[in-house]
Amino acid sequence: MPTLPTTFNDFLGNGAAIEHLRMAIAAGRLPHSLILAGPSGAGKYTLALMLAMAMECERQPRDLWSNGQALASFCGVCRNCTRIASAANLDEEVDKAVAAREELREVDKKDTRVLIQPHPDVLIVPPDPPQLLIKLGQVRTVIQSSHYLPAEAPKKIFILTAASFMKEAANSLLKVLEEPPATVHLILLAENPGELLPTIRSRCAIVRLGALPVEEIEMLLADRRPDVPPAQRALIARLAQGAAGKALGFDLAAYTAARADALLMIRNAAQEPDHTALFKMTETYRAGAEGQQKTSALLRSLALLLEDLLLLGAGTPELVRNTDLRAELERLGSVLSFQWIEGASRGLDQVQSGMRRNLLRSLSLDAFAGQMATSGR
Ligand SMILES: [Zn+2]
Repeated sequence: MPTLPTTFNDFLGNGAAIEHLRMAIAAGRLPHSLILAGPSGAGKYTLALMLAMAMECERQPRDLWSNGQALASFCGVCRNCTRIASAANLDEEVDKAVAAREELREVDKKDTRVLIQPHPDVLIVPPDPPQLLIKLGQVRTVIQSSHYLPAEAPKKIFILTAASFMKEAANSLLKVLEEPPATVHLILLAENPGELLPTIRSRCAIVRLGALPVEEIEMLLADRRPDVPPAQRALIARLAQGAAGKALGFDLAAYTAARADALLMIRNAAQEPDHTALFKMTETYRAGAEGQQKTSALLRSLALLLEDLLLLGAGTPELVRNTDLRAELERLGSVLSFQWIEGASRGLDQVQSGMRRNLLRSLSLDAFAGQMATSGR
């Protein structure tokens, strides 16, 4: 089970951005609406909880920075800190909330939104399954709750864990962002802030969490996952794309399985397509939440393979991420045209953004795979 870093110094990477945030909290000047942007696994949720602890901690400890400025910190042991930290495992908390909803009567289920409340003054709003969008009912709860003064801590904090909103929910959120009550802080986590309405973005301060260098992630893995063989650690460090959390939790077996399917799609473009094999593969991707996850994993690994092909084509083989497939990628790269790789990347972008915006309820993977295979060399 993931636990939070015990101090801000244990949070990996992005030191300057974090000092800035801590200084703002210590000075009571943290923007009321804040977007934490960065790739999946960069630590957005972890950091949001740590910032919440720094604002709510009963002891309000301070560190002194070299220039004499005070940096907000947290004790980690008071009742406010421990309750907030109890939500460290977001996936587990969402599963619990979904299971609780399943227990309800049918008529209540429909109107019950998934929310996580580790502390009376801290509300965590994840995208509501199965559509995985933040819905109007969730934002309404935020609005209602924001009208009350905090009960047991200095601030009321709302953490919205994704940038994917239903349209009415996004419009409704604007109302809180326009005039946030003095005690309210909203933290929005976004992989891609471009997904948010421009009117939402313009009312928030944006802090970006950047990617960590490959070497730093390799060192981290050597330290925390010594059980993983060095060659695999080198591979994971590249595949995690600069995200420490992603690297630490990386499931290489699952990635390799998804990648085998993605590779099949590319191979079929480089040779006479074997439609039976393709169909057999796409048939294993079923509808529903599980199928959607599997499809996302396939599309992500396909994106990395296509990028690697482009890196080889651009004469920068040292940047290739799928280092264990280098020979095969070179072979495929010599057969497939640059136009095909570019076209496939564009097609993939469309499919992925459609999935994010929920335009394609059940994606026709079969059609996409077929399309990739026919326009081959
Ligand atoms: Zn505390």
